[in-house]
Amino acid sequence: MPSHDGGVRVTRDVGVVGYGTIGKRVADAVRSQPDMALVGVAKRSPDYAAAVAHDAGIPLYAAGEEDRFSGSGVPTAGTVADLVERVDAVVDATPSGVGADNRDIYADAGTPAVFQGGEDDSIAETSFTARANYRDAVGTDRVRVLSCNATGLARLLAPLDEAYGVETARATLVRRGGDPGQTDRGPINDIVPDPFGESHHAADVETVLPGMDVRTRGVKVPTDLMHLQSVRVELVDPPASVRLLRRTLSAESRLLLLDSASGIEGCGDLLDVARDLERPRTDFWENCVFAESVSLEGGECTLFQAIDQESDVVPENVDAVRAVTRTAAGRESRALTDRSLGIGSLPTTGTGRRATVESDD
Ligand code: NAD
Repeated sequence: MPSHDGGVRVTRDVGVVGYGTIGKRVADAVRSQPDMALVGVAKRSPDYAAAVAHDAGIPLYAAGEEDRFSGSGVPTAGTVADLVERVDAVVDATPSGVGADNRDIYADAGTPAVFQGGEDDSIAETSFTARANYRDAVGTDRVRVLSCNATGLARLLAPLDEAYGVETARATLVRRGGDPGQTDRGPINDIVPDPFGESHHAADVETVLPGMDVRTRGVKVPTDLMHLQSVRVELVDPPASVRLLRRTLSAESRLLLLDSASGIEGCGDLLDVARDLERPRTDFWENCVFAESVSLEGGECTLFQAIDQESDVVPENVDAVRAVTRTAAGRESRALTDRSLGIGSLPTTGTGRRATVESDD
């Protein structure tokens, strides 16, 4: 396929195993890439999601020991093993722990695999956030994309570390109780420290930013909207002004700096914006940083950022596919993913200003 720069761009064939919250989004994101083709998705049952995928022209592959698809009216193109043989890379988006069970299927086929943050980090040769450590994943057989909260933190800390050096990073993660379909999760009416001590997210971030001193604590609240992170970063060589700090952050395509003049003051507003923009599944692939919360006192930067737990890992999965298949360098991959998904696109507000703070604001 010809690329935008006139060269020839290869197309990578990709399969997705596990077609739930993350798998559906990754499958659609793969379909929107100019250098990828979605060969199919593997599911365990012929439910509504299977029917919708079939209607959208996505080939379905049967997962699990028992073929529940036969006689369902939803045809399959084969099994997981067939899918894995037909692709250059597979994205495993099955529930936590199931990826580890699937690992040998991918290894036996010699197909590189991208796993999710619910798996133990020992499943992969490297954990992954494109902005932090793309290079570590290039040409490897098994990569693990960080969890949603850890991805949001790594995306913020990587450019801060590059620009100013991060001495310490401390974050309190106000975590959504569950995704919209997870009716068995909660709390319904409580505010729950979870866990009481340090949360695992810091160690996760340190897998892609080794040597950084990160600590995280978590609180679960009754919402399915988004996570809200309160972040405090001690900088080694801080910028001269908060304006420069904001400029550094706003130069990052996957960090949206949101000005309250745009009317966006919380996670509910973000959902409304995503609806107005008709973003697919009302997703925010970017970290949503509340611009006025960004402060700088001495060498300490503090801010609030909202993380859409259902979608911030999606561009990372796309980049991870390019890394394991050696399709592009990190910067090129991120730019292509961003362009294909429409990352960073927000409307001009009634105040005449873009919702995103411009670099000279
Ligand atoms: P999900 O439950 O929404 O989707 C998983 C899907 O995989 C389900 O449809 C399930 O039926 C299917 N499945 C189960 N066993 C299977 C098998 N053997 N083969 C094929 N499909 C199988 O889960 P999710 O929220 O999409 O999470 C997937 C992974 O992504 C987990 O590791 C999770 O920790 C991680 N993750 C989730 C979120 C989130 O907020 N939902 C965010 C970031 C990362």
